[in-house]
Amino acid sequence: MSQNILVINAGSSSLKFSLFDMKQQTETASGLAERLGSDEAALTVKWPGGQTSQALPDSAYGSVLTLSIAVLTQQQLLERLPLVIGHRVVHGGEFFTDPVIITDAVIDRIRRCIPLAPLHNPANLAGIEALAALYPDIAQVAVFDTAFHQSLPAKAFLYAVPYRLYEQHQVRRYGFHGVSHQYVAAEAAARLGISAQHGIISAHLGNGCSACAVANGQSMDTTMGMTPLEGLVMGTRSGDVDPGLHQFLQQQEGWDLDTVTNMLNKESGMLGLSGLSNDMRTLEAAANEGVERAQLALAVFCFRLARHIGGLATSLRQFDALVFTGGIGENSGFIRSKVVENLAIFGFALDPDLNAQNGNAGGLISTGPGPRVMVVNTKEELMIARAALALI
Ligand code: ADP
Repeated sequence: MSQNILVINAGSSSLKFSLFDMKQQTETASGLAERLGSDEAALTVKWPGGQTSQALPDSAYGSVLTLSIAVLTQQQLLERLPLVIGHRVVHGGEFFTDPVIITDAVIDRIRRCIPLAPLHNPANLAGIEALAALYPDIAQVAVFDTAFHQSLPAKAFLYAVPYRLYEQHQVRRYGFHGVSHQYVAAEAAARLGISAQHGIISAHLGNGCSACAVANGQSMDTTMGMTPLEGLVMGTRSGDVDPGLHQFLQQQEGWDLDTVTNMLNKESGMLGLSGLSNDMRTLEAAANEGVERAQLALAVFCFRLARHIGGLATSLRQFDALVFTGGIGENSGFIRSKVVENLAIFGFALDPDLNAQNGNAGGLISTGPGPRVMVVNTKEELMIARAALALI
């Protein structure tokens, strides 16, 4: 008998799902509904050996999910109802340190975190509510992007602004990508045989990018902050800028705060620097052809990441491994080699052949006695499925 678990990642303009058979620990199908709310809204469902795409006349989550389930049933991928449904929820504030079964009280707390994630949490809640309506008898579990980082000490999570703002509005650093950092750090420690005691820095590099210092399985510091805008240079997000920039741009360009925030989230990062693309493959190809702004964007990306990794090492007692993950981290030997080159002070010994192959069977891409460098493919959806199964 199969053990179906449905994992949902509901975003503001897209909805992704994965269906797992936990007996086999395999993904049986995945789906992506994108450009929701526009005339081009479309649903693609993939499974081993096939896929289907169709336009979505109605972008409401309930309709998207009903159609997705109809496709899964039609393709005989969902012969039994899911045992449990797992949801990726972006912001759990200070409420959640672990995955939880969704109850009315949990929904209320996710709602109370909306001011901290105004685009993401309402979408996550809409996904939860749509599935509760479709499957009222199936338990739902929330897995939070912020939860893993609740172990950060106060010295790492506080901003140096009046303390009242933390007490009254929970202004602090939260960190994101927690499911990924927790998984790749644990996986790297297990592969190195150092599960009990370790110091690892993981770099999750996708469209969003963050890095995290993990000591003995606990997050000690991370680069994203109150929102996923802080820290590293990303596809379209700026990462750290001087907070004085906002007023400067108001004076020089006449921009209001919404315009500045939009620019920092959507027009900055690799796209803003290169003027070309937010996609790392496109930029690497352009840099190879000699496009200077692409070369410059890559140099800033790698330097800023290396600089943050150096800072994160402050939170570790020992430095066993630097782990790369996410679309860029798992696939770009060029980025990994440049980052390591910027970190010569740590004495990494990158193996060029292993790096070019994205790692050996265990993920190692270095040799020698210094801290190791590894590539570990992230499995956020599978981790959410496992967490959901563990709770029922
Ligand atoms: P998301 O954060 O949306 O889940 P991904 O983790 O899939 O994104 O990462 C997307 C990024 O990974 C894009 O910038 C893409 O160009 C980059 N990427 C994927 N494959 C490669 C590759 N072979 N070389 C360089 N970058 C790559």
